[in-house]
Amino acid sequence: MAGVLWVFAVADFGRLCFETLVFGEMPLSLLVVGSVAFDAIESPYGKVDRIIGGAATYFAVAASFFTHVNLVGIVGDDFSEEDEAIFRGRKIDTLGLERAAGKCFFWAGKYSQHLNERETLVTELNVFADFNPKLPKKFRKSSHVFLANIAPGLQTGVLKQVTGRPKLVALDTMNYWIERTPADLRETLKQVDILMINDSETRQLSNEHNLLLAARHIFKLGPQTLIVKRGEYGAMMVDKRGVFCVPAFPLEEPHDPTGAGDSFAGGFMGYLAGCGSSSDAALRRAMVYGSVLGSFAVEEFGPERLRKLKRSEINARARHFLKLTQFKL
Ligand code: AMP
Repeated sequence: MAGVLWVFAVADFGRLCFETLVFGEMPLSLLVVGSVAFDAIESPYGKVDRIIGGAATYFAVAASFFTHVNLVGIVGDDFSEEDEAIFRGRKIDTLGLERAAGKCFFWAGKYSQHLNERETLVTELNVFADFNPKLPKKFRKSSHVFLANIAPGLQTGVLKQVTGRPKLVALDTMNYWIERTPADLRETLKQVDILMINDSETRQLSNEHNLLLAARHIFKLGPQTLIVKRGEYGAMMVDKRGVFCVPAFPLEEPHDPTGAGDSFAGGFMGYLAGCGSSSDAALRRAMVYGSVLGSFAVEEFGPERLRKLKRSEINARARHFLKLTQFKL
């Protein structure tokens, strides 16, 4: 329904927040394109040899607590019905999960004593090497798009298939693409609203050490919002209006940081797609929900904690964030 004014209430932090929205003709829907993988993970808290992972997996599961998610990725013939169960019973449409002959993308990583450093031991692209994302027709009118970490040329290819201008496009990338395909990445960034990367990638992309100067540089490339994921130090959002920071939820025993950034992105984008607003207030709440989902992801190996998570636990932890950060002057 074009041009209709909707006013609705979002129950949040135990109170009601009112968002006034003008929807275009686009129904709200969240598209994610990225890796669905098997991971081998080693941390001081244990070891798993094969667990389902991939950026799109963490993102989709995290976002599905808030909204309907359309998933596009590729898996091999070693991806069983049982593996796919992670998406079942959730608001995740797997019509765009292509099956190809061969093995799934496989990644192995090992964390340092304090979990703040990670060494990649193995990256086997397998079927991911020939990934050329194709959006099913019903995914093409997505209002919200998250381009997880894949080749920038493929990310641009995804945006070309989306009809109309999405309300919000967010993108993640990594040092590999910043170094190897800088021209492609610049081209993709022109069409992106929110860049979500970690601090070292922010510095590498902008050639600036200071994150505020880095943000200013990144605004010239296209994105008008930068979200810097800072692991145990939380996350920082910078846009023309200013800076907003959320802490990471203090945990005594984080077990495995794999997928924390993707879960953050899932909580963030899921919340925004679910409430339909991108006001400053909504973006700030989305940062908190991102941090909440990221904090749950690290509590157990792989996506195990997210699999068991309940919406009531998300709400309780979001309220806890309020306590963590509120003070009187
Ligand atoms: P993160 O901890 O946010 O870096 O995400 C970890 C997830 O990303 C793991 O589950 C891996 O399967 C996946 N991954 C690792 N390397 C890559 C890559 N080069 N491209 C896409 N996904 C990757």
